[in-house]
Formats: sequence, C-alpha cells, structure tokens
Amino acid sequence: MAGPPRTDYVWMDGELIPWEDARVHVLTHTLHYGLGIFEGTRAYEQTGGGSCIFRLDDHLKRLMGSARICNIEMPFDRDRLRQATIELVAANGHASSYIRHLGFLSAGTMGLYPRDNPVSLCITTWPWGAYLGEEGLKNGIRAKISSFTRPFPNAVMTKGKIVGNYVNSIMAKREVVHQGYDEAILMDTNGFVTECSGENLFTVRNGVVRTPVLTSGLMGITRDTVLKIARDLGHQTTETILTRDELYISDEVFMSGTAAEVTPVREVDDRPIGDGKAGPVTMAIQKVYFETIRGERPEYGDWLTPVPLEASVHGSAAL
Ligand code: PMP
Repeated sequence: MAGPPRTDYVWMDGELIPWEDARVHVLTHTLHYGLGIFEGTRAYEQTGGGSCIFRLDDHLKRLMGSARICNIEMPFDRDRLRQATIELVAANGHASSYIRHLGFLSAGTMGLYPRDNPVSLCITTWPWGAYLGEEGLKNGIRAKISSFTRPFPNAVMTKGKIVGNYVNSIMAKREVVHQGYDEAILMDTNGFVTECSGENLFTVRNGVVRTPVLTSGLMGITRDTVLKIARDLGHQTTETILTRDELYISDEVFMSGTAAEVTPVREVDDRPIGDGKAGPVTMAIQKVYFETIRGERPEYGDWLTPVPLEASVHGSAAL
C-alpha cells in the first residue's frame, strides 16, 4: 500500500530528524481520543525559479487558533514555527510540496483529562499532486451530498482544524466514493449546504460568486483567496445561506482548498451543473489562482514566502 513518499527529514519538537526516526508511542493521547490540531499548506515551484510557501502566516495563525480552541498550549510560537517550516521545506528540497503541521498530546495521563501530557509538534512535507486529480482540475468532478451532516458547531468546534473532526469528513468521503462519486458535500444540522469533506464550496449564478456562511464550515484560506480574486476580477461575491437545490440551478459550482486548489464541479447528485462542464468563471479564477501560487501575479506577492532551496535538489520531482 502506497504511503506518502519518503523524504529526508521531519521536524519534530524543535529539530530536524531523519524521516525514519519520526515515531510516536502507542499511548500517544491524540491517537486514542483525537484531540490534536493540524494544518495543510503548500509550497510551489515558482515560474521565475525557486520555491515559495503560499500563505504560510495565515496557516500558522489558524494553527495557533486551533490550539486556542482546544486549550492546547503550544510549545513553540508562530515565528519559531515559521522558521521551522522554511527550514524543513529547504532541507527536503522539493520545489513543490504539501506541508503538514501536526500538534498532538503525547503519552502521559490516559483518560479524558489529559492535564500534563506534553504537547508535541511535528512538521512533515511530501510531494503531492492534484488532490482531486488533474482531470478533475481541468474538466470538473462529480460530487454528491453525503447522508452525514457536519456536526452542530457547539458539539465540535468547526473553526479549528482539529484531528478528531475529520472522522466526519472521512465517513462522508468514503460514503460517496463507494457510490462512484469524487467528493462529498455536507449539509449542516439545519439542512443548509456547508462545505465538502476537505474543501469549501462556491456557486456562480448570473455572475455572482456565492459561498456558504461559515457557521459550521472551516475558514478556508483558499476560500479567502478565491473571494479576493473573484472580486478583483470584477465579480460580486456573497457569503450566504445556501440550499441544496440552489446548487442544482447554479451556472457553476466549484470547490476550494489547499489540497484541491480550485476544482470545478460538473455534476451534483447526478444533475449536470450548467452545461455539465467546468464553467468559465471557475476557470478564470483557477487561472489567476495558479498564476498567483507560481509567483506570476505581483499584486498577490505578499502571500508568498520564499524558501532558500538549492536549485539543483529534486527540482524535477516537484508536483
Ligand atoms: N474545509 C475543510 C473541512 C478542510 O479540511 C479544508 C482544508 N484545510 C478546507 C475547508 C479548505 O481550507 P484551506 O483552503 O485553508 O485549505
């Protein structure tokens, strides 16, 4: 079974260690109960050469917020994590990679009151291509509303990227993939559309770009990027309550996420969206998004953090 590709290093609790040494004990608290926090970020090879991490500070800010929500005391501050991330991406040497930050409670007290368990922080990177496939990025994917709803926000905190929350996402994703679809769309407990298993959702109708309010969805960083790009392209944008049938009658539907980037949706619940192809507004936003992450858009240059990569290392192994 294929796992993530092996890299040279993992950053763990303050130092770079060899990949094969990055191990945890079976009594790791988070492994039992799911109280942990994580982030998914990407570094991209730049058109002019080199590599940049996209919106690193925003991802680290969300990580710190997730820790706050979970009452997890972070052993490192944002500056240290920023420096560690850059250091690891450079050491692993891939011009394009996915970056995973994970904060978890180590072995200590078992049971549901882990008062003194040490908090561990690790960062890993690996090359990761189009999450929903190259074909999906180009021609759109088939989505289905899952029978699993997003949890009520007062039961499971939805503004944090919390390890245990992803049981819900995996249930939804597995359900629809087993039924032959590519991705799951989840409703909230009131029956309104929220987001996908690991992406935010957008519709386009009469040129207006719409996305659900964030009552029970994650504050996606790509969602924020898309809203900015859409406005700069001259579209009206709105964050609103979105019903299931509004998806069916939209001109376009698309998903956004660090992993999924900007992926068009050509079908929802076996109904073609618009004319059943990737829509023009989606593709215009996707084009600017890809130009932005590759450093071709100076107006969005503040979102890029350069990584001092040695030009020769692993360049061709990039995404
Ligand atoms: N919703 C969920 C549930 C997610 O896991 C993700 C991925 N982090 C997103 C939305 C998209 O967020 P982002 O654009 O910050 O990757």
